[in-house]
Formats: sequence, C-alpha cells, structure tokens
Amino acid sequence: MRLEQMYEAMGIRHNILSYARDIENDLKERFSLIDETAEYNQMKVIRAMQKARVSDIHFAATTGYGYNDLGRDTLEEVYAQTFHGESALVRPQLISGTHALHVALSGNLRPGDELLSPVGKPYDTLEEVIGIRDSVGSLKEYGVTYRQADLLEDGSFDFDGIRQAINDRTRLVTIQRSKGYATRPTLSVDKIRELISFIKSIKPDVICMVDNCYGEFVERMEPTEVGADMIVGSLIKNPGGGLAPIGGYIVGRKDCIDRASYRLSAPGLGKEVGASLGMNQPFFQGLFLAPTVVAGALKGAVFAANIYERLGFSVTPDSSQTRHDIIQAITFGTPEAVIAFCQGIQAAAPVDSFVIPEPWDMPGYDAPVIMAAGAFVQGSSIELSADAPIKEPYAVYFQGGLTWYHAKLGILMSLQKLADAKIVEIPNVH
Ligand SMILES: *Cc1c(COP(=O)(O)O)cnc(C)c1O
Repeated sequence: MRLEQMYEAMGIRHNILSYARDIENDLKERFSLIDETAEYNQMKVIRAMQKARVSDIHFAATTGYGYNDLGRDTLEEVYAQTFHGESALVRPQLISGTHALHVALSGNLRPGDELLSPVGKPYDTLEEVIGIRDSVGSLKEYGVTYRQADLLEDGSFDFDGIRQAINDRTRLVTIQRSKGYATRPTLSVDKIRELISFIKSIKPDVICMVDNCYGEFVERMEPTEVGADMIVGSLIKNPGGGLAPIGGYIVGRKDCIDRASYRLSAPGLGKEVGASLGMNQPFFQGLFLAPTVVAGALKGAVFAANIYERLGFSVTPDSSQTRHDIIQAITFGTPEAVIAFCQGIQAAAPVDSFVIPEPWDMPGYDAPVIMAAGAFVQGSSIELSADAPIKEPYAVYFQGGLTWYHAKLGILMSLQKLADAKIVEIPNVH
C-alpha cells in the first residue's frame, strides 16, 4: 500500500492530503532547524549520562526509606549536568508540576517574605498555591505576601513597574517561561536572561525561579544557564520524554535545592530519603528520548499553525514565529469548530480513539471545557492533546505528540472533522 492509501484507510481524504503535503514541503527548512536543536540537546543528555557513568545498576528499584539509592542520586546528577545546575531533585514523590512548584516555593520562602511575579498572573493552579485565590494551606496563610508586575500591552517587561515592586521583603521572583493557557507571548531564554539580570541589578540576593514547564529542550539553552537559581517542571511534559509515568524536577543552586528537599521530605532528612520504586529506568530513558520527542511536538505545532493560518484562522504563535514552548493556540471563533477539532485529535489517538470528547463543567472553570487526550499516561501533555474552554474567543490549545507522525495524523484528522462538518473548505491543490 502506498502511504497515501494508508492515510485514506485511516479516514483522511485525498484533498486534505494534497493540501497538507504542500504545506509540509514548505516547512522543510523549519523542520531541519528543529532537528538540529534536537541533535544538540541529544548530545547534551548523552554527555551528562556518560559523565555520571550511568550503568545498569542505576535502574534497580529501591523501597522503604530509600537510603543510598544510587540510581536516584545518579539521575539527579544527570539532571543537574544536563540543565547546568549544582544540584537537582528528580522524584516520583513530586506528583506534578504544580507540586514541584509548591515545594520549590514553600521550601525557599519564610513568613514575612514576599514573592514577586514580574510577568503577570501565573499559571492557574499556582493561584491557590500562592493564595491569589484564597485556599487552605496557601503561602498566604503562612505569612508570605505576593506582588505582581504585569507585562506591558505589547507583551514586553514593565521595567519601571518591576523596579517599584521590588522591596526589602522580596525574597523570590517567579518567572513563567511558557505562556501556558494565557495570551501573552512565551519568553525566550534570552528574554529570561534580560529579566533576571535586571532584577539582580536591583537586588542581587533575590532567588530567581523559572517555571520551565513546556520549555525544556525547545532551545539549546535552559534558564539555569542565564542566571536562574532554580528551574522547575513536570516529568509528564517535555523532560519525561513520554516514558515517565509520574514525577517532577527542581534543578539549580545547591542551597535552594536543599531547602526544597527539606520541604519535600522533612527537615533533617532532605535528599537522603525517598525510594525510587523502580522509576529510575523510565526517568533515565525518558530524558534520553526527550530531545527528539520535543522535536516531534514542535514540528506538529508548526505544521498546525501553517495549516490553520492559511485557512484564515488566527494562530499563536503564528506560522513563522520562532518557538519557545510546545503549545499552539488556534482561534476558531465558534464552539462547533472547537469541538470538531478536539474530536479529530481524539480520533487519531493510539489509546481511547473510539471515545468522543464532549464539553463538560469541570470544577474550577467558569465555562464548559472540552479535552482530547488519548494518552498512555493520564493527563500527560507531552502526548498529543488538546483542550479548550467553550467560551469567547473559542480558541483551542494543542500540544505534544510523542512522534511527529502521530502529531501530523492528529492535525490531519482534526482538519478532516472540520471539513466533514462543513466548517472549513479545503483549497484545491493540483
Ligand atoms: C502544566 C503547567 C504547570 C502545572 O503542571 P501540572 O503538572 O499540570 O500540575 C505549571 N506551569 C505551567 C506553565 C504549566 O504549563
């Protein structure tokens, strides 16, 4: 069977394949730049593993307290080396990105300290961690205050506002690299460098933490190479490479990581305890695969931006912008289009492809939300997934794909569903 017949057998019609083939051909150069970054980052990871003398024995499972867990300690050495930090916490006991961020923040802040976000409102789940929305156990309840400097209208830093927000009590600055599900631009590592050096010129001893979720391996450098004292992320996003079934990481300055570790386990115990329970092997192997997995997800994002921009939809980032995270937003303008798109992503999945996602009233959201995810790991968003609140401007956020080919199928299938529902008309290509 020819490749085209294979796609047709999957339900993608000829006119969609022709339209997409032209676009893919135009993206050869973009894709080869993405591949070069992956190649560079692959060397970075292999070098770190070789330097730490990773060996078979490090894959053994430990139980109980987890004293002398060689594999865990070596994995943390590899993360520290890969991300240019002095130390690392990489644990299955870090339940998620939000938990890792909570541990990093609460471990490094004390009553009377102030936390500053110089890039506007942080990710939704952090609102309750910080106490922006009142919540039991928030940093606010422990006497940590919060201040925020919003970005300017054009998405740039409000340097005057940031200067005014820094005071005697400012102890920690949290910088979110990815736009997440907001409309501001994602920060490049160069932009983060500029921001951190400005902040440290005003207050040199402030701790600069970067929420690195969705940003790992998208560029050649990570924020720890441009002055960040800590970076934090989730292993069911980029650095887990799709193989980590749980986990989070914190990498950075030794004193910051130590303080976080006393919060994760207990004062006096720190990094010395925490059995790896057999997770070391998937954590190592996932990190090894992460640069190419991220490259596949990036190609999918760029492909989707080009497919939908040419059909007249507004896409963020746009078809030609450089990428600093793996998230692609597409504004469809109608609920029907959003639903058709998500149903296409679901129909292309290796797992639960027979399920039809529908919008529902999720707790914590002010509008029904639709989610498409046919993932091996629940909630994993390095796997191809899409979600959208059913409200103006009817935008879909889409990310991931463990392989470029799967991301491509997902996008073709979404387009097929939109064409079937007569929401888009596919231009004729000869
Ligand atoms: C995903 C994400 C988080 C939270 O991670 P969870 O694993 O979902 O708790 C925090 N910040 C950003 C920018 C994210 O993308």
